[in-house]
Amino acid sequence: MTRDSDRPDRPHRARKRFGQNFLVREDIIHHIVQAVNIKPGDQVVEIGPGLGALTSRLLDAAGSLQVIEIDRDLATRLRSRNDPRLYILEADVLNIDFQSLMADSQKLRVVGNLPYNISTPLLLKLAHAHEALADLHVMLQQEVVDRLIASSHTRAFGRLSVLMQSVFTIEHVLAVPPDAFKPAPKVQSAVARLTPRSDAADGPTLQALELATRMAFNNKRKTLRNNFRHTFDEAQLRELDIDPSARAETLALDAFHRLADAIIVRT
Ligand code: SAM
Repeated sequence: MTRDSDRPDRPHRARKRFGQNFLVREDIIHHIVQAVNIKPGDQVVEIGPGLGALTSRLLDAAGSLQVIEIDRDLATRLRSRNDPRLYILEADVLNIDFQSLMADSQKLRVVGNLPYNISTPLLLKLAHAHEALADLHVMLQQEVVDRLIASSHTRAFGRLSVLMQSVFTIEHVLAVPPDAFKPAPKVQSAVARLTPRSDAADGPTLQALELATRMAFNNKRKTLRNNFRHTFDEAQLRELDIDPSARAETLALDAFHRLADAIIVRT
Protein backbone atom coordinates (compact mmCIF):
# COMPACT_ATOMS: atom_id res chain seq x y z
CA MET A 1 0.00 0.00 0.00
CA THR A 2 1.31 3.46 -0.87
CA ARG A 3 1.13 5.79 2.08
CA ASP A 4 0.23 9.47 1.78
CA SER A 5 3.68 10.29 3.07
CA ASP A 6 5.23 8.67 0.02
CA ARG A 7 3.42 11.09 -2.24
CA PRO A 8 3.16 14.58 -0.72
CA ASP A 9 1.74 15.75 -4.05
CA ARG A 10 -1.39 13.63 -3.49
CA PRO A 11 -4.40 15.03 -1.57
CA HIS A 12 -4.34 14.07 2.12
CA ARG A 13 -7.30 12.07 3.41
CA ALA A 14 -8.52 13.61 6.66
CA ARG A 15 -8.20 11.26 9.64
CA LYS A 16 -11.07 11.35 12.07
CA ARG A 17 -9.05 9.83 14.89
CA PHE A 18 -6.76 12.85 14.83
CA GLY A 19 -9.67 15.31 14.75
CA GLN A 20 -8.67 16.54 11.31
CA ASN A 21 -10.86 19.36 10.04
CA PHE A 22 -8.72 21.60 7.90
CA LEU A 23 -9.35 25.34 7.64
CA VAL A 24 -10.17 26.32 4.07
CA ARG A 25 -11.91 29.70 4.30
CA GLU A 26 -9.44 32.44 3.53
CA ASP A 27 -11.40 35.17 5.36
CA ILE A 28 -11.42 33.13 8.59
CA ILE A 29 -7.71 32.25 8.29
CA HIS A 30 -6.94 35.95 7.75
CA HIS A 31 -9.05 36.96 10.76
CA ILE A 32 -7.30 34.43 13.03
CA VAL A 33 -3.83 35.53 11.94
CA GLN A 34 -4.78 39.17 12.54
CA ALA A 35 -6.17 38.37 15.98
CA VAL A 36 -3.00 36.52 16.98
CA ASN A 37 -0.91 39.49 15.79
CA ILE A 38 2.52 37.84 15.74
CA LYS A 39 5.53 40.15 15.88
CA PRO A 40 9.00 39.34 14.52
CA GLY A 41 10.96 37.43 17.15
CA ASP A 42 7.89 36.08 18.98
CA GLN A 43 8.42 32.48 20.02
CA VAL A 44 5.47 30.75 18.43
CA VAL A 45 4.33 27.15 18.77
CA GLU A 46 1.58 25.79 16.53
CA ILE A 47 -0.29 22.73 17.73
CA GLY A 48 -1.51 20.54 14.87
CA PRO A 49 -0.36 22.43 11.75
CA GLY A 50 -2.07 19.87 9.52
CA LEU A 51 -1.90 20.98 5.89
CA GLY A 52 -0.50 24.33 6.95
CA ALA A 53 -3.48 26.69 6.69
CA LEU A 54 -2.01 28.92 9.42
CA THR A 55 1.58 27.72 9.39
CA SER A 56 3.20 29.81 6.61
CA ARG A 57 1.62 33.01 7.85
CA LEU A 58 2.72 32.42 11.44
CA LEU A 59 6.18 31.49 10.22
CA ASP A 60 6.54 34.57 8.02
CA ALA A 61 5.36 36.87 10.80
CA ALA A 62 7.55 35.38 13.56
CA GLY A 63 10.63 34.44 11.52
CA SER A 64 10.68 30.93 12.97
CA LEU A 65 8.08 28.47 14.20
CA GLN A 66 7.87 25.24 16.20
CA VAL A 67 5.03 22.92 15.19
CA ILE A 68 3.76 19.78 16.92
CA GLU A 69 2.04 17.28 14.65
CA ILE A 70 1.08 13.71 15.54
CA ASP A 71 0.21 12.55 12.02
CA ARG A 72 3.31 11.06 10.42
CA ASP A 73 2.11 11.80 6.89
CA LEU A 74 1.42 15.44 7.65
CA ALA A 75 4.76 15.82 9.42
CA THR A 76 6.45 14.35 6.33
CA ARG A 77 4.64 16.83 4.10
CA LEU A 78 5.84 19.69 6.29
CA ARG A 79 9.40 18.35 6.26
CA SER A 80 9.30 18.26 2.47
CA ARG A 81 9.10 22.07 2.52
CA ASN A 82 12.77 22.07 3.59
CA ASP A 83 12.27 25.34 5.42
CA PRO A 84 15.08 25.85 7.96
CA ARG A 85 12.88 28.28 9.94
CA LEU A 86 10.36 25.51 10.68
CA TYR A 87 11.02 23.10 13.61
CA ILE A 88 8.80 20.06 13.30
CA LEU A 89 8.08 17.95 16.35
CA GLU A 90 6.37 14.76 15.25
CA ALA A 91 4.72 13.98 18.56
CA ASP A 92 1.55 13.78 20.60
CA VAL A 93 1.08 17.26 22.07
CA LEU A 94 -0.16 15.64 25.28
CA ASN A 95 3.39 14.35 25.82
CA ILE A 96 5.13 17.66 25.16
CA ASP A 97 6.90 19.57 27.92
CA PHE A 98 6.13 23.17 26.93
CA GLN A 99 8.79 24.51 29.28
CA SER A 100 11.42 22.68 27.21
CA LEU A 101 10.32 24.51 24.03
CA MET A 102 11.31 27.88 25.48
CA ALA A 103 14.59 29.41 24.31
CA ASP A 104 16.29 32.14 26.38
CA SER A 105 13.38 32.07 28.87
CA GLN A 106 11.14 33.75 26.28
CA LYS A 107 7.52 32.80 26.85
CA LEU A 108 5.67 30.94 24.15
CA ARG A 109 2.80 32.16 22.03
CA VAL A 110 0.75 29.04 21.32
CA VAL A 111 -1.65 28.85 18.39
CA GLY A 112 -3.77 25.94 17.27
CA ASN A 113 -6.87 24.81 15.51
CA LEU A 114 -7.07 22.07 18.08
CA PRO A 115 -8.11 18.47 17.60
CA TYR A 116 -11.49 18.60 19.36
CA ASN A 117 -11.21 15.03 20.65
CA ILE A 118 -8.41 16.01 23.05
CA SER A 119 -9.39 19.59 23.83
CA THR A 120 -10.14 19.15 27.55
CA PRO A 121 -6.94 17.27 28.53
CA LEU A 122 -4.93 19.63 26.32
CA LEU A 123 -6.41 22.75 27.92
CA LEU A 124 -5.68 21.36 31.37
CA LYS A 125 -2.13 20.53 30.33
CA LEU A 126 -1.68 24.10 29.07
CA ALA A 127 -3.09 25.45 32.34
CA HIS A 128 -0.41 23.50 34.23
CA ALA A 129 2.22 24.85 31.81
CA HIS A 130 1.06 28.49 32.09
CA GLU A 131 4.42 29.75 33.38
CA ALA A 132 5.91 28.95 29.97
CA LEU A 133 3.17 30.74 28.06
CA ALA A 134 2.70 34.32 26.89
CA ASP A 135 -0.73 33.58 25.43
CA LEU A 136 -2.83 31.02 23.58
CA HIS A 137 -5.11 31.40 20.58
CA VAL A 138 -7.11 28.24 20.11
CA MET A 139 -9.94 27.07 17.91
CA LEU A 140 -12.39 24.92 19.86
CA GLN A 141 -15.96 23.79 19.67
CA GLN A 142 -18.20 26.80 20.41
CA GLU A 143 -19.69 24.80 23.26
CA VAL A 144 -16.25 24.42 24.87
CA VAL A 145 -15.56 28.16 24.52
CA ASP A 146 -18.95 28.81 26.16
CA ARG A 147 -17.82 26.65 29.09
CA LEU A 148 -14.45 28.39 29.27
CA ILE A 149 -15.98 31.84 29.64
CA ALA A 150 -19.12 30.91 31.61
CA SER A 151 -19.91 32.71 34.88
CA SER A 152 -21.44 30.99 37.88
CA HIS A 153 -25.25 30.73 37.90
CA THR A 154 -25.25 29.78 34.23
CA ARG A 155 -25.75 26.34 32.70
CA ALA A 156 -22.38 26.28 30.95
CA PHE A 157 -20.50 26.91 34.22
CA GLY A 158 -18.58 23.83 35.29
CA ARG A 159 -15.19 22.27 36.04
CA LEU A 160 -13.49 23.63 32.94
CA SER A 161 -14.73 27.18 33.68
CA VAL A 162 -13.33 27.13 37.23
CA LEU A 163 -10.00 25.53 36.35
CA MET A 164 -9.24 27.61 33.27
CA GLN A 165 -10.48 30.93 34.71
CA SER A 166 -8.22 30.33 37.71
CA VAL A 167 -5.22 30.47 35.40
CA PHE A 168 -6.22 32.54 32.37
CA THR A 169 -8.11 35.62 31.33
CA ILE A 170 -10.28 34.29 28.53
CA GLU A 171 -11.81 36.14 25.60
CA HIS A 172 -14.03 34.98 22.77
CA VAL A 173 -12.33 36.18 19.57
CA LEU A 174 -14.27 34.82 16.60
CA ALA A 175 -17.20 32.54 15.78
CA VAL A 176 -16.36 30.05 13.04
CA PRO A 177 -19.05 28.21 11.05
CA PRO A 178 -18.68 24.58 9.88
CA ASP A 179 -18.14 25.63 6.24
CA ALA A 180 -14.79 27.13 7.19
CA PHE A 181 -13.39 23.59 7.36
CA LYS A 182 -12.93 20.59 5.14
CA PRO A 183 -14.37 18.20 6.08
CA ALA A 184 -17.00 20.37 7.78
CA PRO A 185 -17.53 19.43 11.45
CA LYS A 186 -21.07 18.95 12.73
CA VAL A 187 -20.63 21.66 15.34
CA GLN A 188 -20.02 25.40 15.44
CA SER A 189 -16.50 26.47 16.39
CA ALA A 190 -14.92 29.53 17.96
CA VAL A 191 -11.49 31.00 18.56
CA ALA A 192 -10.58 32.00 22.10
CA ARG A 193 -7.63 33.98 23.46
CA LEU A 194 -6.25 32.85 26.82
CA THR A 195 -3.71 35.00 28.65
CA PRO A 196 -2.14 33.81 31.92
CA ARG A 197 -3.34 35.89 34.88
CA SER A 198 -0.73 37.60 37.05
CA ASP A 199 -2.29 35.73 40.00
CA ALA A 200 -2.66 32.40 38.12
CA ALA A 201 -3.24 29.36 40.34
CA ASP A 202 0.05 27.55 40.99
CA GLY A 203 0.53 23.80 40.52
CA PRO A 204 -0.64 22.63 43.98
CA THR A 205 -3.64 24.99 43.92
CA LEU A 206 -4.61 23.80 40.46
CA GLN A 207 -4.40 20.18 41.62
CA ALA A 208 -6.55 20.95 44.66
CA LEU A 209 -9.02 22.81 42.41
CA GLU A 210 -9.17 19.74 40.14
CA LEU A 211 -10.15 17.70 43.19
CA ALA A 212 -12.60 20.29 44.55
CA THR A 213 -14.34 20.75 41.19
CA ARG A 214 -14.50 16.99 40.57
CA MET A 215 -16.35 16.61 43.86
CA ALA A 216 -18.50 19.73 43.55
CA PHE A 217 -19.71 18.94 40.03
CA ASN A 218 -19.81 15.19 40.58
CA ASN A 219 -23.56 15.36 40.48
CA LYS A 220 -24.63 18.79 39.28
CA ARG A 221 -28.16 18.42 40.61
CA LYS A 222 -27.07 17.46 44.12
CA THR A 223 -26.23 19.91 46.89
CA LEU A 224 -22.67 20.66 47.96
CA ARG A 225 -23.48 18.98 51.32
CA ASN A 226 -24.07 15.78 49.38
CA ASN A 227 -21.22 16.05 46.91
CA PHE A 228 -18.67 16.86 49.65
CA ARG A 229 -20.01 14.41 52.24
CA HIS A 230 -16.79 12.37 52.30
CA THR A 231 -14.54 15.44 52.64
CA PHE A 232 -16.21 18.31 54.49
CA ASP A 233 -19.16 18.24 56.89
CA GLU A 234 -21.78 20.99 56.97
CA ALA A 235 -20.00 22.98 59.68
CA GLN A 236 -16.75 22.94 57.73
CA LEU A 237 -18.51 24.13 54.58
CA ARG A 238 -20.11 26.97 56.57
CA GLU A 239 -16.69 27.90 57.98
CA LEU A 240 -15.56 28.32 54.39
CA ASP A 241 -18.55 30.61 53.87
CA ILE A 242 -20.20 28.05 51.61
CA ASP A 243 -23.90 27.26 51.87
CA PRO A 244 -24.18 23.43 52.16
CA SER A 245 -27.58 23.46 50.49
CA ALA A 246 -26.28 25.29 47.39
CA ARG A 247 -25.31 23.62 44.13
CA ALA A 248 -21.85 23.84 42.56
CA GLU A 249 -22.95 26.00 39.63
CA THR A 250 -23.90 28.81 42.05
CA LEU A 251 -20.44 29.05 43.64
CA ALA A 252 -18.18 31.93 42.60
CA LEU A 253 -14.54 31.32 41.66
CA ASP A 254 -13.21 32.47 45.05
CA ALA A 255 -15.41 29.90 46.85
CA PHE A 256 -13.71 27.15 44.83
CA HIS A 257 -10.37 28.64 45.87
CA ARG A 258 -11.38 28.49 49.55
CA LEU A 259 -12.29 24.82 49.06
CA ALA A 260 -8.96 24.17 47.31
CA ASP A 261 -7.01 25.88 50.10
CA ALA A 262 -8.86 23.78 52.70
CA ILE A 263 -7.97 20.64 50.73
CA ILE A 264 -4.29 21.70 50.63
CA VAL A 265 -4.22 22.33 54.39
CA ARG A 266 -5.50 18.79 54.97
CA THR A 267 -2.95 17.03 52.79
N1 SAM B 1 -4.06 23.62 11.68
C1 SAM B 1 -4.70 22.89 10.61
C2 SAM B 1 -5.82 23.73 10.03
O1 SAM B 1 -6.24 24.67 10.71
O2 SAM B 1 -6.28 23.43 8.93
C3 SAM B 1 -5.21 21.51 11.09
C4 SAM B 1 -6.20 21.53 12.22
S1 SAM B 1 -6.91 19.95 12.57
C5 SAM B 1 -8.40 20.46 13.40
C6 SAM B 1 -6.00 19.34 13.97
C7 SAM B 1 -4.54 18.97 13.70
O3 SAM B 1 -3.98 18.46 14.91
C8 SAM B 1 -4.34 17.87 12.67
O4 SAM B 1 -3.26 18.20 11.84
C9 SAM B 1 -4.03 16.62 13.50
O5 SAM B 1 -3.27 15.65 12.82
C10 SAM B 1 -3.29 17.23 14.67
N2 SAM B 1 -3.37 16.44 15.91
C11 SAM B 1 -4.39 15.67 16.34
N3 SAM B 1 -4.12 15.12 17.53
C12 SAM B 1 -2.89 15.56 17.87
C13 SAM B 1 -2.04 15.34 18.99
N4 SAM B 1 -2.43 14.56 20.00
N5 SAM B 1 -0.82 15.93 19.02
C14 SAM B 1 -0.42 16.73 17.97
N6 SAM B 1 -1.18 16.98 16.89
C15 SAM B 1 -2.39 16.42 16.84
